Amino acid sequence: MDMAVKENLEAFKKKLAGSSATLIAVSKTKPVEALLQAYEAGQRDFGENKVQEMAEKQTQLPSDIRWHMIGHLQSNKVKYIAPFVHLIHSVDSEKLLRAIDKEAKKAGRVIPCLLQVHIAEEETKFGLSDEETLAILQPSVLDSVPSVSIAGLMGMSTLTDNKAQIKKEFGHLKALFERIKKEVNHPRVEMKELSMGMSGDYAIAIEEGSTMIRVGSAIFGERNYVH
Ligand SMILES: *Cc1c(COP(=O)(O)O)cnc(C)c1O
Repeated sequence: MDMAVKENLEAFKKKLAGSSATLIAVSKTKPVEALLQAYEAGQRDFGENKVQEMAEKQTQLPSDIRWHMIGHLQSNKVKYIAPFVHLIHSVDSEKLLRAIDKEAKKAGRVIPCLLQVHIAEEETKFGLSDEETLAILQPSVLDSVPSVSIAGLMGMSTLTDNKAQIKKEFGHLKALFERIKKEVNHPRVEMKELSMGMSGDYAIAIEEGSTMIRVGSAIFGERNYVH
């Protein structure tokens, strides 16, 4: 196991000095020992992309960790994370929003969500179009899901070395964020968080107004999916 988590985290935070963006440590595929090292170095926000993995880690780690669901989420799995999840970044359909509302109600809470917008060129990445995003933000939808709140937007850029393209995609998301802030007036919509930027493109994301960066490999090392 990579024991340099604390050092990586501290080095990464130095690079972020001067930015107020929240650092979410993306710990998917990493063992609880690695998360504990980050925790002991002061990290409290962790991101996972699989329901079962997050739920298992949650039972084994300190209760003041803020768990962020950042991966594609299936409606029938929301129940496993509804009691404790801090923020769901990956709401990409009205159906999923309704499932979150139902499970949040059962858990006796309101779950904050981000709408995931498709900003990349790749067709494979999940996310709503601008039009679909605005459609979900209509009062007719929002009034019917009282146990969710919308705290902002999330997006992933195209995997490319073309910085101008990444900048354009993040700029687009920021513009949509500002437009919604201006145009949508609902008690459960507050555009606070713009979740964009990962290990490879966080610097551009911050320049474009990101408030939450989701960083995995720069903290925990490369992921090895083949066990
Ligand atoms: C894995 C993942 C990240 C982190 O990626 P790194 O390149 O390791 O920083 C960020 N966001 C999402 C949605 C992810 O799935």
